Amino acid sequence: VTRTRFAPSPTGMFHVGSARSALFNWALARQSADGRFVLRVEDTDAARNKPEWTEGIISALEWLGIHKEDPHFEGPYFQSDYAGKHRETAERLAEEGRAYYCDCTREMVRQRRDNPHLGYDGFCRDRGLEPGPGRALRFRVPDDGSTVVADQIRGRVEFDNATIEDFVVARADGSPLFALANVVDDVEMGITHVIRGEEHLSNTPKQQLLWRALGQDPPVWAHLPVIVNEKRQKLSKRRDKVALETYQDEGFLPEAMVNYLMLLGWAPGDDREIMPWSQMERLFRVSDVNSSSAFFDEQKLRAFNGEYIRALSVDEFVERCRPWLTPERAPWPEKNFDEEVFAAIAPLAQTRVAVLSEIVGNVDFLFLDEPVEDERSWAKAMKPEVAPAMLTAALERFADPDLAWEATSLKSALEEVGQAQGLKLGKAQAPVRVAVTGRTVGLPLFESLELLGREPVRERLRAALT
Ligand code: GLU
Repeated sequence: VTRTRFAPSPTGMFHVGSARSALFNWALARQSADGRFVLRVEDTDAARNKPEWTEGIISALEWLGIHKEDPHFEGPYFQSDYAGKHRETAERLAEEGRAYYCDCTREMVRQRRDNPHLGYDGFCRDRGLEPGPGRALRFRVPDDGSTVVADQIRGRVEFDNATIEDFVVARADGSPLFALANVVDDVEMGITHVIRGEEHLSNTPKQQLLWRALGQDPPVWAHLPVIVNEKRQKLSKRRDKVALETYQDEGFLPEAMVNYLMLLGWAPGDDREIMPWSQMERLFRVSDVNSSSAFFDEQKLRAFNGEYIRALSVDEFVERCRPWLTPERAPWPEKNFDEEVFAAIAPLAQTRVAVLSEIVGNVDFLFLDEPVEDERSWAKAMKPEVAPAMLTAALERFADPDLAWEATSLKSALEEVGQAQGLKLGKAQAPVRVAVTGRTVGLPLFESLELLGREPVRERLRAALT
């Protein structure tokens, strides 16, 4: 039976790299009928944890489709609830001679060593110290031989035991360190596969020694390659946009995000890229994950998202846009919003937006009392030699009650007006577009004019002339 786990520390925003780890673990767990994905919140660093980060983890997972209600989901467990077990295990290791107490301060270790990279020198190994204040517990690492980590992604990684120091498993105050707590929980929870970020690979030989010391065979290990930006730098929260929530707020669809994240280091073995979760879940093999770093290409993600948006039905698109149309987010007075008008413009917008938040800038002219005034657009389109004459002529032409107020006739009308001014349609419509929508680019103009209505359009042309 496959038991994977996702073991985040609630110390910050949910990182896209964590999202990828979670998805890989989720896919693997769901491949077998009784497979389980265990969520374990590693909340032992009380100084850095906050309950809202834990809530953030759970809601991010839900957004990605990793639901608590799913039969493959188990947890959440909280590492802090198992502190007793961690201490007990530490004591057992000491009793069995697999670990020993040590009262060396960092300073003392440094003074005894000429090379600080060598780490702890084993000074207390055979001193037979009893537990007591100021005494940490260190694991006795074999002096000879090597520890071989059989990694599903990196292959066989061999660590010379002589290079692994007798590492601390419990601090002087008795609290266990990450390496121990993490292994004890994995053992207790019957974890069969540890799929996590490459930054943990250096912990792995120590953890594998712990698994063995606890009388267990180690799990299947898989260390995922780092995710890098366009400069090939590891994504960092200070420099890069790494919080999943930011993508959510910008209007990336979870299904597009999931698809994109799954392809960070993994591919189904052919050129297919856009594919539903059900297929990725079936095809995913952790051993197919590439060991070289994965480039997080936001442009590509946007392209994916655009494709996913265009694949929605119009009704679904309208529903997905809703969160961006609320009074909290939309810039227009709430009373101006009109369902029908929005539903009519939605199909035109759907083909143009890459992320849902862009819906606002595309339709705001319909619901704002006055269009936004984009200075660059204004400077570009409102040339004094053409704009006033063009706007005046359009204003007059649009007053004609015999002019049917619908896109095709509006187009021919504006074409005629332009010709009379010696302007091609493109040039002729630019000032009209800016006067009405506030911007030089946007949805098809004549449909937009039709939807806004004759009087509001004329009103804006008039306003632009003053
Ligand atoms: N809490 C650790 C982290 O977030 C877990 C590492 C692991 O998956 O073993 O980095």
